[in-house]
Amino acid sequence: MSKATTMTTAAGNGIGDNQNSLTAGPRGPVLMADYQLMEKMAHFNRERVPERVVHAKGAGAYGKFTVTHDISKYTCAQIFSKVGNSCETFARFSTVAGELGSPDTARDPRGFAVKFYTADGNWDMVGNNTPVFFIRDALKFSDFIHSQKRDPRSGMRDATMQWDFWSLSPESLHQITTLFSDRGIPKTLRHMNGYGSHTFSLWNAKGERYWVKWHFKTMQGNKTLTQAEANKIAGEDLDHHRRDLFTAIENGDFPKWTVMVQIMPERDAETYAIHPFDVTKVWPHADYPLQEVGVLELNRNPQNYFAEVEQAAFEPGNLPRGMGASPDKMLQARILSYPDAHRYRIGVNYAALEVNKPRIPVQHYHRDGATRFDGNSGSAVNYQPNSFGGPVDVAAYKEPPLRISGDADRYDHRAGNDDYQQAGALYRLMSAEQKRQLIANLVGALQGVPEFIQVRQLKHFYQADPAYGQGVAEGLGIALNKVI
Ligand code: NDP
Repeated sequence: MSKATTMTTAAGNGIGDNQNSLTAGPRGPVLMADYQLMEKMAHFNRERVPERVVHAKGAGAYGKFTVTHDISKYTCAQIFSKVGNSCETFARFSTVAGELGSPDTARDPRGFAVKFYTADGNWDMVGNNTPVFFIRDALKFSDFIHSQKRDPRSGMRDATMQWDFWSLSPESLHQITTLFSDRGIPKTLRHMNGYGSHTFSLWNAKGERYWVKWHFKTMQGNKTLTQAEANKIAGEDLDHHRRDLFTAIENGDFPKWTVMVQIMPERDAETYAIHPFDVTKVWPHADYPLQEVGVLELNRNPQNYFAEVEQAAFEPGNLPRGMGASPDKMLQARILSYPDAHRYRIGVNYAALEVNKPRIPVQHYHRDGATRFDGNSGSAVNYQPNSFGGPVDVAAYKEPPLRISGDADRYDHRAGNDDYQQAGALYRLMSAEQKRQLIANLVGALQGVPEFIQVRQLKHFYQADPAYGQGVAEGLGIALNKVI
């Protein structure tokens, strides 16, 4: 047993009694002067920070990323400068729609966020376990999330809201097909892939830019839960996935992912048949093959869940030299919305928290703000330009210029888009058993939804693949002539 140390107040004053309140006589009222009681209750009342609006329920762990293959011709990012380079990482996996106490085995995409503490500053990959997303324009994001969360009147989640929105948003079909497939509920967080989902960029010292898709392939194998298995576990252990990851790491069974990229030269984007900045689409592997880059291993559990997992703040805009974003509309909006959410949720100095701060010195002119808990840059000069040796911008960190064209306008993102081909391709690559599960899961989820919405959604399934539409229609008992 460890030797007990003296308990103190937050100010360091020793505490003589943490069992009994200060009262006027043994049965008398509690005195206002019981500072310790007041401090204890007041702190307790403030223990929770607002939970994330999305991705509230998560699990996190530290690890290591090691570069195994050379991609230095595409990027001058320090981490990729030579094979064998490595850096510490912190990963957080999460469900999307459920609240902090929700079951881990819900059918939902999983957030797959990784912070790479590189020697050139932090690189955050804030992805999902699916390569695509439900919408392609962030103007629809809060509408989409409202439709998946709770009904404003009943306070309950509601299939009609979900399918009303989805059936009116055909760009969601590819992601719906992924979500209701067997991969929609991973067996554990170790048995799922991760994807950057958006197109990002890499650029080299010659100023050449390449578009890139990031893939994290599980080395444990893709394993899934059926809806029935997931329902059973949800009734027994809400924290099933969190527990599995924590226990595996405690036992030295470290999960690993092979990190891979698809690379597209900058100018290909102008002629490639598939819109390369549309997050509802993948790049078929036959067009842009996967190339191995490195290995991600998770090998250390946090010491404190709140400090390290709840306060972890990932930002798709954290991109060191040699890496960049892309014109993907969803990504552009996420570059704003993630840090904005962190400022609201944990405060303006969130980036200085231990789990979030880079492993190299930070030098900027941000000062002050609520709960400035570090030295606030001490007496250093707080404006730029200055004559007193403050940090300066260095041109070598500038991204190469990006060619853009066109008039600023609100372009219809649904016009001229094929939302069916890739959803159909996914359906067709599934085994007979996977197709059976997909259709059964969809039939279950569409139960009780008004028929006009069911029919509107069935038309999408049918357009992706007639057998897909027919299977769900049969399961729902809807005649095919209402769909075709
Ligand atoms: P490929 O046959 O080259 O690749 C198929 C991909 O599908 C593999 O990456 C495989 O992942 C993945 N996959 C298999 N079963 C499922 C499932 N139930 N849910 C989600 N993904 C699954 O084909 P293409 O590249 O031509 O793509 C065909 C379709 O595959 C796409 O329309 C897309 O829906 C899906 N897909 C494509 C990806 C891509 O980046 N090109 C990535 C993921 C899915 P694994 O190797 O881990 O088994």
